[in-house]
Amino acid sequence: MHHRPTQAKINLSAILSNYQQAVKLAPKAQQLAVIKADAYGHGAVDVAAYLEPHVPAFAVAFIDEALSLRAAGIDKPIVILEGLSGEEELRLAAQYNFWPLLHSNEQLIALTALSPVPDLHCWLKVDTGMHRLGLTPVEAQSWVDKLTRLMQRKPVLASHFSCAEEPDSPISMHQMQQLFALAAHLDCEVSLANSAALTTLPQSAVGWNRPGIMLYGSSPIAGKSAAELGLQVAMTVTSQIMAIRDVLPGETVGYNCRWQADTPSRIATLPIGYADGYPRLINSASEVFLHGQRAKVVGTVSMDMLTIDVTHIPQVQAGDEVELWGENIPVNEVAAHANTIGYELLTRVTQRMQRIYL
Ligand code: PLP
Repeated sequence: MHHRPTQAKINLSAILSNYQQAVKLAPKAQQLAVIKADAYGHGAVDVAAYLEPHVPAFAVAFIDEALSLRAAGIDKPIVILEGLSGEEELRLAAQYNFWPLLHSNEQLIALTALSPVPDLHCWLKVDTGMHRLGLTPVEAQSWVDKLTRLMQRKPVLASHFSCAEEPDSPISMHQMQQLFALAAHLDCEVSLANSAALTTLPQSAVGWNRPGIMLYGSSPIAGKSAAELGLQVAMTVTSQIMAIRDVLPGETVGYNCRWQADTPSRIATLPIGYADGYPRLINSASEVFLHGQRAKVVGTVSMDMLTIDVTHIPQVQAGDEVELWGENIPVNEVAAHANTIGYELLTRVTQRMQRIYL
């Protein structure tokens, strides 16, 4: 039961429409729906249940995320992007039809100890330039035959772009060429494109694509809005004004007196703060949306509250709805004012914020 009027409204049909937009960009490929980190804060179980009839498989980061989805009745295959370690996790993967993306010799050695495992469909992560996880192309090549014998099917060869949001990046070209040459040589399927690559590097969007952020209606590339990419916003965070006060020139608002009125000003207080996931380190240009217009966030964001300057909107009253991000204020804009990216804000919406599914 939630009584506080601070909510993340999640539009599930927008997520499906965005998924279908990803399909349109690469109709001959398969698209995994990436729903790690609680579906980027949108609620993995609700998102998966809604998408399940439309997608071939899901992807999460860790096995516990995949187990929670199974416990909630989600049946489609689930790729575990960060792989699995140890026998027990590999056995669970075979039991629950998880497809682990194995990235190290240690994981592969653990797998060989289990043989035979015909029910296990493992993918191999190849490090083509991110230098975070993955086998070298030479190591991958040495494992493909063994894995194929063990699983009685070929592994998918996967890699992850380090600069996909930069169109024309020579690094992306190099990564793509390395993976595709290896896959052609070994006659394996590939998995490479994320949201940004799907939109800017269509030649990489073959095999199994892995769109994440675009499913949630957030543009994966700077300089192109979500609407320009045919994406619909999936999360709108709103709150309601709980108090309004007039402050005089020279008076300050909030912790550490970081904002001071130059002129007579009206300040409205909202019951949302950094404990809900609104960034504390927001700069003074950050805005919210109410009564069809924008208003500035002023003063330090508190744990449970923040304050906005509504001097220019005389009709404002307690109880009025305010959008923090969503349809009118892109989450990427708020993120930029906090020196971060939309991904971080979406995934940091805390459990205290009620999710309302539309
Ligand atoms: N694939 C991997 C391995 C990832 O780590 C991620 C997200 O970080 C994705 C795909 C989805 O990327 P995006 O949300 O940029 O589409």
